[in-house]
Amino acid sequence: MKGAMKNLFECKRCGFCCHGETTVSLDDEDQERMIAALGMPREEVAEKYWRITGSCVQMKVVDGHCIFYKDGCSVHPGRPGRCRQWPLHEAILLDETNFNIIRESCPGIDQDVSYARFCELVKEYNSKKEPG
Ligand code: SF4
Ligand code: SF4
Repeated sequence: MKGAMKNLFECKRCGFCCHGETTVSLDDEDQERMIAALGMPREEVAEKYWRITGSCVQMKVVDGHCIFYKDGCSVHPGRPGRCRQWPLHEAILLDETNFNIIRESCPGIDQDVSYARFCELVKEYNSKKEPG
């Protein structure tokens, strides 16, 4: 994260967003980025790290967290777009409740930031798609 965002969000590496029984899904661009970062053939990456259900590709879950979570993200340069975007999720723009839930779950967000200010950041980030 850069600029103004740096003052309002700084990941504390608590791992909350990497836990759960499913992960974000990977689109084609995410898959190619991850393959390049791991430096392995697609088949090997798919077998070791992906859970493929029909056309949906997610990362495997091990012990209740994403397979890449090891005191932080072990595939950081190759992580999916949704992980890069977090916590600037578009759902925040729809409802302040979504913002409150995300803010409470992510200790990296300045807990005093206003809803209006955070909406501005979400819009700014998503218009630039700046790598995190
Ligand atoms: S919940 Fe927030 S602070 Fe914790 S790892 Fe995820 S982005 Fe970082
Ligand atoms: S790819 Fe990295 S940031 Fe995304 S869920 Fe897995 S460990 Fe977390």
